[in-house]
Amino acid sequence: MKLLIGPGWVTNGTDVFIENGGIVIDNGRIEAVGRFEDLRDPHADWIPTHGRLILPGFLVAHHHLYSALAPGISPLGPTPNFRKILENLWWPLDRALDAETVYASALHGLMDALRHGVTLVFDHHASMGFIRGSLQQVARAFEETGVRGLLAFEVSDRAGAATLEDQIRENLDFWERHRNHPRLRGIFGLHANFTLSEDTLRRIREALPPDLGIHIHCGEDREDLDYALRLGYQGLVDRLHRFGLLGAPSLLAHCIHLTDRDYELLGTLDTTWVVSNPESNANNQVGRMDRRRIRTYLLGTDGMSGDMVATLRSHYLLGRGKDEDFAEMHRAFFEHRYAAQQVFFPDAAPPFHPGSRADIAVLEYQPVTPLRPDNLLGHLIFGARTARAFLTIVDGQVRYHAGEFPHLNADEARERIRAAARKLWERYYGQT
Ligand SMILES: [Zn+2]
Repeated sequence: MKLLIGPGWVTNGTDVFIENGGIVIDNGRIEAVGRFEDLRDPHADWIPTHGRLILPGFLVAHHHLYSALAPGISPLGPTPNFRKILENLWWPLDRALDAETVYASALHGLMDALRHGVTLVFDHHASMGFIRGSLQQVARAFEETGVRGLLAFEVSDRAGAATLEDQIRENLDFWERHRNHPRLRGIFGLHANFTLSEDTLRRIREALPPDLGIHIHCGEDREDLDYALRLGYQGLVDRLHRFGLLGAPSLLAHCIHLTDRDYELLGTLDTTWVVSNPESNANNQVGRMDRRRIRTYLLGTDGMSGDMVATLRSHYLLGRGKDEDFAEMHRAFFEHRYAAQQVFFPDAAPPFHPGSRADIAVLEYQPVTPLRPDNLLGHLIFGARTARAFLTIVDGQVRYHAGEFPHLNADEARERIRAAARKLWERYYGQT
């Protein structure tokens, strides 16, 4: 059965911009995009959208679904600096996760993502007390919600040398098993340079297939950079590059504390994407990515939310300066994102072109002021302000519509998530 959505403002932020537009979806693909009155078809199911803004589904380019059950939790000790934030909050939290809580946390995070028009998540998972099989639990939540995902387990020395091979295998097995999956893919996860010894990186280099890239925190805090400099490298990207880890498409989260050599290398690595996480950076007080030196980047939430318009708004507000370039930010939010999506999830056509995947976000936003291609970002930041969705479609399937999840029993899911959160918090506080 065909599906018609509209009328609304249909735009992909690049070359499609239609007032009173609509989209026809057939068999998971976009069949037609145009003026709504030209698309009416008695054989299609119609979801009226009443002038709302209709965009390609959002990407969270760096997320930690394992942190979705953390809101309201307290650190186990003081958090005066970045390392203590990890040691007293995130590391004990990930150690406390088991199969059920990994699954429930991912389910909760993905339901939140669907409520915000997200159709693709690059997730960076950690659960050092439950390594083998953990990505399968995360994947279960992706399957049930229908969201598209690129999954990784963040390898780190912090869990002890005895678990290293398990961490490596968890990445490799998942990647291998999902090479032809319709919506899931694997990438090789690494925590950060400063928790990976020279021996560990050598071992990873041996194990890493040439066509498998990495997803790593890079230069989030000054400590990360100091570690690489002490070892004699010219920077963090330099270290990864010299280990030969950046040969395949890769993701470097944060990139705040870098060297001139690192910036220079980033300029030459075509399929290595920097992911900026403005809200997390503000929360941890670690500084922010230099937009004058890094122009090709994606946006992530680092586990803070599944709301990419709120993230864009923070990115704008926190990074404002005399040299502000709205056009650059527009390119990051649309064009660079599409380029990265195309690398990790190749598609037959660009978003909102016939033949492309039907991954769509209809926002709870009905623009009343003039909307033009060059002020779309202004509408998102000052008009919509959040990506709260009316309708989220992945692969042509309605996954969220007017507060409901058609494929999920949301009440049952909520109960299960609440029980898992209680269990996780008990295990977490039990470590003190
Ligand atoms: Zn992160």
